[in-house]
Amino acid sequence: MRALVWLGPRQMELVEVPRPAPGYGEVLLRVQAVGICGSELSGFLGHNSLRHPPLVMGHEFSGQVVECGKGVNLIPGARVGVNPLVTCGHCAMCRRGLDNLCLSRSLVGAHRPGAFAEFVAVPARNCHALPDGIDYVGASLLEPLACSLRTVELAALEPMERVVVLGAGAIGLLALCCARRAGAAAVAVVDTNPHRLALASAWGADRVIDAREEDPLVALAEFSGGDGVDVAIDAVGMTVTRRQAVRALRRGGRAVMIGLHEAESALEINEIVRNETTVLGSFGYTSLTFERALAMVVRGDVLPEPNWLEVRDLSTGPASFAELIDTPVSVAKIVLRP
Ligand SMILES: [Zn+2]
Ligand SMILES: [Zn+2]
Repeated sequence: MRALVWLGPRQMELVEVPRPAPGYGEVLLRVQAVGICGSELSGFLGHNSLRHPPLVMGHEFSGQVVECGKGVNLIPGARVGVNPLVTCGHCAMCRRGLDNLCLSRSLVGAHRPGAFAEFVAVPARNCHALPDGIDYVGASLLEPLACSLRTVELAALEPMERVVVLGAGAIGLLALCCARRAGAAAVAVVDTNPHRLALASAWGADRVIDAREEDPLVALAEFSGGDGVDVAIDAVGMTVTRRQAVRALRRGGRAVMIGLHEAESALEINEIVRNETTVLGSFGYTSLTFERALAMVVRGDVLPEPNWLEVRDLSTGPASFAELIDTPVSVAKIVLRP
């Protein structure tokens, strides 16, 4: 089968590799749509500690069951969306319902071969049958939507709170969408890419801030009426945006960090102490959150429209990765189809 194999920093090739065989409790899927995630861009550059070459990445995907391993009750032909976070189901974290923090968690496309290929083997229990009305591209959005939804759930929004989202990539835009549905009074979005800020406006941001043209902290002070915002979501993960997230808050505000760009950042902890700021990390999603994301896509809350998402052939993978890194791409998500 054809697969996109990442071989090292900025090196990726479409090559022939053996088709995987489904193990016990697994199914073999014919991949139908697979999104490129921001974490895979840092992986492509060699900056992501979870990913080691040679590797077939790809964790935002949907597919059709073509073969079932032993102990599986799915049927060949079933259309499925996949939760790529493989968890044990019985450790202390899984028992608490925090399966995203499972002590032996692994991610399809990072710890085992992923979906930038014609076929991928995954545990059957990670597959969700797709109702009619969700197409494969829409189903490839379940994973990033679940990530953003987890972040908004952790923010514990109360009605009429003001929110800023730093970063208008797919995760930031989806967080905007989730914050709106969670009852935010107003949402501001900060980025440096004008195309993506235009998308944020189209998705209902009340204020968009181009950080190259205005100081986000000045703009956010005005946006919040002077006190600071209640919640800041950092969907970038650089020191500059992490600091802005904390500084944009009112006293007692909450910053939720989902971006993973830089491994370490210095924050003004004394200010965090004096202001009783909550700073939280958000990783992946619980299986409950994944199911909620599925319900949102079924309801049409997030539509895979061509104005923000582009579908390309798998063979464009290496060029698409380079383009996403080197140019201010106008779409927020590129989805590949083998
Ligand atoms: Zn992802
Ligand atoms: Zn576990």
